[in-house]
Amino acid sequence: MTPAATDAFALRHIGPRPEDRDRMLHDLGVPTLDALIDQVVPSHIRRPDPLIEPPAETEAAFLTRLRTLEAKNARFRSFIGAGYYNTHTPAVIQRMVLENPGWYTPYTPYQAEIAQGRLEALLTFQTAVSDLTGMDVANASLLDEATAAAEAMTLLRRVSKKPASAVRMLVIGEVFPQVRELLVSRAEPLGLRVDFVADADAIADDVFGVMVQYPDGHGAVSDIAPIITRAHEAGALVAVGSDLLALTLLVPPGELGADVVYGSAQRFGVPLGYGGPHAAFFATREAYVRQSPGRIIGVSVDAQGGSAYRMALQTREQHIRREKATSNICTAQALLANIAAFYAVFHGAEGLTDIAIRIHGHVTQLAAALTAMGLTLHNAAYFDTLRVSGVDAETLRAAAEAAQVNFRYLADGSIGISLDETSTSDDVLAISNVFGKVVGRGTQFDETAPSPVPVTLRRRSSFLTHPVFTEHRSELQITRFIRRLERRDIGLDTSMIPLGSCTMKLNAAAEMLPITWPGFAAVHPFVPVEQASGYQEIFRDLERMLCDITGFAAVSLQPNSGAQGELAGLMVIRAYHRARGDSHRTVVLIPSSAHGTNPASAVMAGMKVVVVACDTNGNVDLGDLRAKAEQHKDTLAALMVTYPSTHGVYEDAIREICEVVHAHGGQVYMDGANMNAQVGLTSPALIGADVCHLNLHKTFAIPHGGGGPGMGPIGVARHLAPYLPSHPVVTTGGGASGIHAISAAPWGSALILLISYAYMSMLGGDGMTEATRYAILNANYIKARLEGPYAVLYTGREGRVAHELILDLRPLKQASGIDEMDVAKRLMDYGFHAPTVSFPVPGTLMIEPTESEDRDELDRFCDAMLAIRAEIQAVIDGTVDPNDNVLKHAPHTAAVVMADQWTRPYPRSLAAFPLPYLRTMKVWPTVGRIDNPFGDRHLVCACPPMTEYAEETVGA
Ligand SMILES: *Cc1c(COP(=O)(O)O)cnc(C)c1O
Repeated sequence: MTPAATDAFALRHIGPRPEDRDRMLHDLGVPTLDALIDQVVPSHIRRPDPLIEPPAETEAAFLTRLRTLEAKNARFRSFIGAGYYNTHTPAVIQRMVLENPGWYTPYTPYQAEIAQGRLEALLTFQTAVSDLTGMDVANASLLDEATAAAEAMTLLRRVSKKPASAVRMLVIGEVFPQVRELLVSRAEPLGLRVDFVADADAIADDVFGVMVQYPDGHGAVSDIAPIITRAHEAGALVAVGSDLLALTLLVPPGELGADVVYGSAQRFGVPLGYGGPHAAFFATREAYVRQSPGRIIGVSVDAQGGSAYRMALQTREQHIRREKATSNICTAQALLANIAAFYAVFHGAEGLTDIAIRIHGHVTQLAAALTAMGLTLHNAAYFDTLRVSGVDAETLRAAAEAAQVNFRYLADGSIGISLDETSTSDDVLAISNVFGKVVGRGTQFDETAPSPVPVTLRRRSSFLTHPVFTEHRSELQITRFIRRLERRDIGLDTSMIPLGSCTMKLNAAAEMLPITWPGFAAVHPFVPVEQASGYQEIFRDLERMLCDITGFAAVSLQPNSGAQGELAGLMVIRAYHRARGDSHRTVVLIPSSAHGTNPASAVMAGMKVVVVACDTNGNVDLGDLRAKAEQHKDTLAALMVTYPSTHGVYEDAIREICEVVHAHGGQVYMDGANMNAQVGLTSPALIGADVCHLNLHKTFAIPHGGGGPGMGPIGVARHLAPYLPSHPVVTTGGGASGIHAISAAPWGSALILLISYAYMSMLGGDGMTEATRYAILNANYIKARLEGPYAVLYTGREGRVAHELILDLRPLKQASGIDEMDVAKRLMDYGFHAPTVSFPVPGTLMIEPTESEDRDELDRFCDAMLAIRAEIQAVIDGTVDPNDNVLKHAPHTAAVVMADQWTRPYPRSLAAFPLPYLRTMKVWPTVGRIDNPFGDRHLVCACPPMTEYAEETVGA
């Protein structure tokens, strides 16, 4: 950094000022940052050449350049449908949620007491989904519609009462092409078989599940009840793909007996974004809730008996049940689910129904006009989509593109037209004019054309009856509602979130701005690629930069999360082995310290997990690795390894570890969650890996959104490049022998790639390397301040840590009875979100400050941790009661501290203002400590009735 460059983005992104850095280095006893890095990062894995590309751009220069790229995306009107629809994001939701760091910067609500706002919003999403689908329970989102369909398939197999030999899934009628693809993609490694058939006649004994789409993949609406009945009679379970807006008018699948209903909530106010991010929904029966994928928000009680929200069945969550997991979902689509929830709140049942009726009315008129032209309509009944034939598709396409209009062109020459919330009578006229021009007929409208939907399929049941959907109609009401929820949560706009492994760095405003620019936000994922050349140029740039950073030959931008990257990478390895005639290579070695998604993904890729031990220093036990690699040498597929390790150290032996695996015929998969300790200093290729994913929502500045979105692109060495994921609709430039798609959209959640692109462009190669160096500095500074009072579990060479560190609270627990959870909850009283609790080691806290935190904030956090340590000491010394103290009662709500009766053995000021800074920047948790087991015993996953809110107020 040259001192003159005061407009350098690096100065905004990186927290410590140069003088702070020098003081911190002085405290660490090293002369320079270079010297610290030399102590920390093993020399034999260092990058020989510095990362110089790209050159850093200022905020202003980058945004100007991005405007020119935006202009390269064509602005056609798209009526393509197929699961993606234009929508109006209500301005109040765009401004208060999508563009608001209070909503987009928090992490997954692991610390529920300071996440009540987004938990309530997610519960509202679940309530809207279960109401609209007619199901008992819904989860808080999945990654996209097609992967949700695949999750539905595997759920049906898990809960099926049929013998394990029943491995067949029947898909009856038309489903979206990306759904079809993902079913095949996910079924194959698990030994399941998907058959696509026309009717229910094919249901046989070996069929465990049936899937049907309603409206179907071409937009036809028909009665699916006979299929469901028939399937149930044959002992098969049924998953129904559906559309939330259509379900305001149609009898919901739940009332027809469906076992699972899945789909996309995108059209509830979430921009198309060239494919994502969007929230998929997943609803099922009460009986299957414990088997269902993803996170489910539930209601429990707090220490004062008031009701409080939390992630239900949480034990399976952070420790994602490894190889016994129901799915590998970790990051989901929380922010987008919340937008969808607020959209439902904003419009209510009446508003949503009006929108649906308006769309349906326009389509009905269009149908009449096209019929009058002599065209054939294939859908006897429909909601928003027509399928038309009787015209040459190529001629029509030329006319449509001349009029800057996109339709869906089906393989049989018919044409799909989907209208949406944004469609107007002008659009209807424009569409019929395109057809009229080709067939040589004028447009005639029939204002009285009746709806083709049979009366028996029209919805009669009510939905969204909870007051949350009726009480926020005016803009001030909804503004205050959103703000009220937002204030209950801690995001990065409040204080540092030191979650180890999660990399909670700055999500800069300039990085976020472009995601609402219409040239990026309003692009349908299936437009001809030449209409998205702005996006395509960005993808090529990004791929090149990520190749440079990882040292790999090729990158796929498709996976929608880190865990999906793991699955993609393992499927690529699998394809590589198979292509070489090694289909028996199915064993994956995974160190015991690995993240739960690693084994979960391995199982989904059809692989067998063998656990490798770690030694007392937290490193992979080389002896055990050698033994296991030798034992499984004939069947070894891969090793999954995190680097630096989940213990926060750069293992010196990493190259040797990779060599052992290669020598036994395996490939090395590197979990890239800790890339923030590598960028510019070393790389996955340098350590010897063959493939890795990058959590763009960790290392590359995409915000965590309160539990998603994310992006998990994978990089691969040259020999694996041919197997990178393909896509059934759009040619992605993926590998020549590409595996089936991993995500619904060709470039995953393309819209948020802009954020990482902005991050990389504005920091430049130099700035990204500085970011890594400061992340290491900050972690080691915290270590220096906390070590002694706390035990630091693992250190690398010369007693340093990498970009994160683990505090071992087990000795303190032994001495005082105060455990890691008490410390986590007490930190809330100090205005902080806890570090990662009990991962990767039970009874510990893992702290990752990131480069973005300045020295004052690091000090404030350390002061809080040291003050808590003194509180623990008082317990150890016997001066306070081990069970009745400020730690065990944490967190303290305002209502508790201000109660007329105060009977606690410590003063109120200690409860609420234990350090002076809190008197001016206090965050009040809105609920007391939440009873987790109670919530799991009494599972409630929809908004509780208002009486509960009343009780809560009384109790407060
Ligand atoms: C975050 C994380 C993952 C999972 O990534 P998601 O994007 O949440 O799916 C995997 N491994 C490690 C070590 C992680 O920290």
